[in-house]
Amino acid sequence: MDLRKNPNEQPNWKGIWVFAEQRDGIIQSVAFELLSEAKNLARTLSCEVSAVLLGDEKIEVDPLFEYGVDKVYVAAHPELKNYLTAPYTSTLAEMVNTYKPEIFLIGATTIGRDLAARLAIRINCGLTADCTGLAIDPEKKILQQTRPAFGGNIMATIISPNHRPQMATVRPKVFKKIKIQKQKEKNVIKFSPVIKGEDLLVKILETIKDESVKVNLQEAEIIVSGGRGICDQKNFKMIEDLASALGGAVGASRATVDAGWISAHHQVGQTGKTVAPKLYIACGIAGKIQHLAGMQGAETIVAINKDPDAPIFKVATYGIVGDCLEIVPALIRKVKELRI
Ligand SMILES: Cc1cc2nc3c(=O)[nH]c(=O)nc-3n(C[C@H](O)[C@H](O)[C@H](O)COP(=O)(O)OP(=O)(O)OC[C@H]3O[C@@H](n4cnc5c(N)ncnc54)[C@H](O)[C@@H]3O)c2cc1C
Repeated sequence: MDLRKNPNEQPNWKGIWVFAEQRDGIIQSVAFELLSEAKNLARTLSCEVSAVLLGDEKIEVDPLFEYGVDKVYVAAHPELKNYLTAPYTSTLAEMVNTYKPEIFLIGATTIGRDLAARLAIRINCGLTADCTGLAIDPEKKILQQTRPAFGGNIMATIISPNHRPQMATVRPKVFKKIKIQKQKEKNVIKFSPVIKGEDLLVKILETIKDESVKVNLQEAEIIVSGGRGICDQKNFKMIEDLASALGGAVGASRATVDAGWISAHHQVGQTGKTVAPKLYIACGIAGKIQHLAGMQGAETIVAINKDPDAPIFKVATYGIVGDCLEIVPALIRKVKELRI
């Protein structure tokens, strides 16, 4: 909606929506993270927070109410069981035009990125992709959407003053999910989607899971990451050994992924995954801004680097200046000793 053409429409656009992405019927963690942040934003706007869930008739709405949503809009249809760009876009466009949310937040997952871009075009509004911060302008009451720009060298705050809804995608793990204990009245609004033949030109014939992805980096509580400072592809073995001794997952810098030492599934950073583990151990990683963008949310950061001036030490909780080829094996021995 272009408010310049329809200035009287502005008050009709109210509330914050969060797209409750589901896969195999399971609502993804990013939806709960966005709902938690939406509750913060809603305090300044004094508005409701709603989740929007698309799926088949069996789709489960209850988990959303644990995160304090005021309403859940549900569109159930057999063709919405699994994500497909066209039927999801058409259904959500109908829902947005019917219920008029002021803000619409979507997880910057592979599904969310595809969907948000299509939807923004369909409903004629802007979209700020991959935000790392959201706020409400206290005077104008519009959404301030912050994201890295120019290769991560500046943080740009973008607004969308003339169009509704204001749309943003946010990566998983940028915000923390906060459960709200209080039992809430379960306000579910059912929307009946009309799926047209033209939206069903693509069919899912089979889904093949990538078996090489053994761990979900974004859900790991401990991550041990290797950078170019581990010197050789074969030394990822010691990174794996430390991760496994600690019960954690293996991460990597882009330099190592680009060198073909490890698959891109492990890359942490601006063009990799955003992670927020309890413990992040960076081994031989310089700590360039693009890497920090993906791991600064970790509770405790341990950095091992032989250069005392490496930028990683600026964000590290504990810094070890030294050769990771000596320190990592020593750590593995110590962890194993303590486990016995
Ligand atoms: C648009 C854009 C997006 C990007 N996205 C990402 C991203 O998502 N993730 C990412 O990681 N990078 C990203 N980068 C790349 C980033 O700028 C860096 O080039 C990269 O992170 C460097 O990786 P590194 O720290 O492993 O390697 P290097 O910069 O080569 O650093 C290696 C470090 O290891 C230390 N070292 C060397 N030998 C040892 C040793 N034996 N023991 C201990 N320490 C040692 C060195 O002192 C150095 O600090 C991006 C860049 C651009 C332009």
